[in-house]
Amino acid sequence: MENKSDSDDMEEEELPINFKNVSPSIYQKTIEILKYYYLCNECLGRQFSYLGTATSNLERAHAILLGITMECHLLLVKTTYQERFTLYDQNPIEILDLLVRKADFFPAKKIFEQFKEKEFLFSTISNFPEQNEFRCQLCDNFLLPNKINEICKSIDLKARDYEFPDFLIGTHLNAAQADKEDELRAKFNLKNGESFKANLNRLIGKKLQELWKKQPKFEQPGLMITINLEKKEKIDINLRSLPLYFRGRYKKWVRDLPQTHWHCFECRGKGFNKFTKKICTECGGTGDKYPSSIHDLIGNEFIKATKGELALFHGAGREDIDARCLGSGRSFIIEIRNPKIRNVDLIEVAQILNEKNKTKIFVDSLLPTTKKDIVEIKKNSEFLRKNYNALVYFAQPISEIEFKEKLQKAKEILNETIINQRTPLRVVHRRSDKTRKKKIYSITGKYVDSRHGFFKINSQGGTYIKELIHGDNGRTIPSLSKIYGYPMLCVELDVIQIEENEKD
Ligand SMILES: [Zn+2]
Ligand SMILES: [Zn+2]
Repeated sequence: MENKSDSDDMEEEELPINFKNVSPSIYQKTIEILKYYYLCNECLGRQFSYLGTATSNLERAHAILLGITMECHLLLVKTTYQERFTLYDQNPIEILDLLVRKADFFPAKKIFEQFKEKEFLFSTISNFPEQNEFRCQLCDNFLLPNKINEICKSIDLKARDYEFPDFLIGTHLNAAQADKEDELRAKFNLKNGESFKANLNRLIGKKLQELWKKQPKFEQPGLMITINLEKKEKIDINLRSLPLYFRGRYKKWVRDLPQTHWHCFECRGKGFNKFTKKICTECGGTGDKYPSSIHDLIGNEFIKATKGELALFHGAGREDIDARCLGSGRSFIIEIRNPKIRNVDLIEVAQILNEKNKTKIFVDSLLPTTKKDIVEIKKNSEFLRKNYNALVYFAQPISEIEFKEKLQKAKEILNETIINQRTPLRVVHRRSDKTRKKKIYSITGKYVDSRHGFFKINSQGGTYIKELIHGDNGRTIPSLSKIYGYPMLCVELDVIQIEENEKD
C-alpha cells in the first residue's frame, strides 16, 4: 500500500538541452490536459504520482494547481496587457477559468472572481453560467474523499462478521474506465503515473488500515476484499476469508454411509426428470443417492462452528459404502471455505459431532492443520498397511477340511505377494481403467459354516478387497475365488486398522 514514488521511470522525453525543445513543465502539461478533461484532484495527482515522495496524489494536484494559480495571480496584478499575457502564451484569467471549471480548484476560483470583471474584455471566456455538479472524467467522482469514505464504511460493515488477522484489497475495473486513462496518458505523453487500480486500492487500504489497526498482507491475506466496478451503476463488494483446515480421524459404525456425497444417478442430483420435469422417483426429489455422508455429518458441524460457506472433505483413502471403518479409524482433513470464525473450540465440535451421530460415526484427534497436509495424507494413504475383516459367502457348500486346505494354499500364494488389480468393474465408469500393483502382506481365515468363511487380510492401502475375494471376472489376479475354485462373494467388510506411521 506504500506510495510508489521512487520509480526509475522518470526519463520523460529525454531531449538534448535545447531551450526551444525543452519538455513542457508539469504546469504546462496540466493546463493542456485540463483543456480536454475534467479531472478531480486525485486523478490529476495520479498522473504525476512517481514524482515527489512522502506525499499523496491529492497534495501533488494541490501543489500543481496552487502553483499555477499563484503564477496567474502574479501576472494579473501587472498593469499592461502585454505583461499579463506571458504565461504559456495565454491570458492568465483563461487559465484560472480552466482550473475552476475543469479541476474544481477552489483557490483559483477566489482569484478568478476577483479579476474576472476587469479581464472580461480581454479574454475569450464567456461569463459562464453556473456549471452542473463537477464530474471527473476518469473516475466519475469515485475517488473523491466522501465516496472513498462511503465505500470504506460499507466494507467495514460487511467485515464485522469476520475474524481476520490481515487483509488485502483487489479491484475489478470496467474496461471503459481503464481505456479512458490509457487514452489520456498516450495523448499527453504521461509516463509518471501509477494505475487507477493501485491508486484506488491504496486509498481504501490506507483508510481501513487506520480504522482496523490491521496490516495489509499480499500473500494469503486473512480477508480478501474485492471491489468490483465492472458494472457502472453498482459497486459490488465481495469479502472472502482464507480457508481453514482441520485434521482428525473418523470411525464408521454403519454399512450404508458413503464417505462423500453421492448424487442420485437417475436425475444427476437435480431432483427432477430433465424431460418430464416431474419429481425424480428414484430419490424422491432430494437429488441424493444416499441421504447423508461422513463428509456431510462432519462438514455441517464445522460450517456451523465457523459460519463458513462450504466444507470440502479430504480422506486418507476411503472404505466402500457398505464397509465399516473400525480400530483407530481413518485420517481426514476438512476444509472450510470462507469461514467467519477462525478460533474454533475443537473439543466442543468433536463432542457435539459424536453426540449427534453416535450411532453412525465417531470423530477424534481434531487439530488445526494446513493445505499442504491434504497432499500428504492422500499420498501416504497409498502406502499405509491396512487390516480388513471380510465375511465371505461360498456359492457352493464347502467342508471345513477343504476350507483349511485351500486357506493354506491361499497363504502360500498371497502372503507377501504383489497382486495385479485392474480398476474394478463397479467403479470403472468413474475411474480410469488401469492395472494397479498392490501388496498383500498376510491373510488368515476361519471356517464359519458350509456357506461362510471369515478372512483377515493385511494389505497395502488402496487394495480392492472385494475384488481380491471374488476375482472381478479375472480383473484381479490372483484372487481367493480362483484359489478356492468356487465363486465367492464378500458379504461384509470392515476396515479394522489403518497403520498410520508404518510406511513400507
Ligand atoms: Zn477522478
Ligand atoms: Zn433423483
